[in-house]
Amino acid sequence: MARPEDMWQCQTVNCGYIYNPDKGDRRGKVKKGTLFQDISDEWRCPICGGTKKCFRPLMGEGSTKADCELPVENDPAKLTAAASAAKVATRTDQKETDPMQKYVCEICGYVYDPAVGDADADIAEGTKFEDLPEDWTCPICGAPKDNFVPED
Ligand SMILES: [Zn+2]
Ligand SMILES: [Zn+2]
Repeated sequence: MARPEDMWQCQTVNCGYIYNPDKGDRRGKVKKGTLFQDISDEWRCPICGGTKKCFRPLMGEGSTKADCELPVENDPAKLTAAASAAKVATRTDQKETDPMQKYVCEICGYVYDPAVGDADADIAEGTKFEDLPEDWTCPICGAPKDNFVPED
């Protein structure tokens, strides 16, 4: 059984992961029996991605030292932004999960129907509007995909 001095806990808010040298960290390729001090500096908390500096031993020297350095992607502002972006993406996905959703050209009124595709542009039947190449344009007026809106 590892001594508390050898058990290192992640100090990141809401994390609390404890590195136990008896177990190592299989995902981080840390062998059983590896002391925390001997883990590569490249190693990251398997839960929150924090660096080794985020860890403190449960007991002993250094257990009260606060010196947490989070990787950039764990910056709370960015996390929030990423979370809301994910939410938006989810909402968009839900709205656009219908593969047969038709799209209307706002310029000329042409309707892209996935069931039909666009033979002139070598778009096969059953191609979702989202799957059209980015350089696909309206066969009538040449407007880019940006000018298309889902048909109600
Ligand atoms: Zn952590
Ligand atoms: Zn058009």
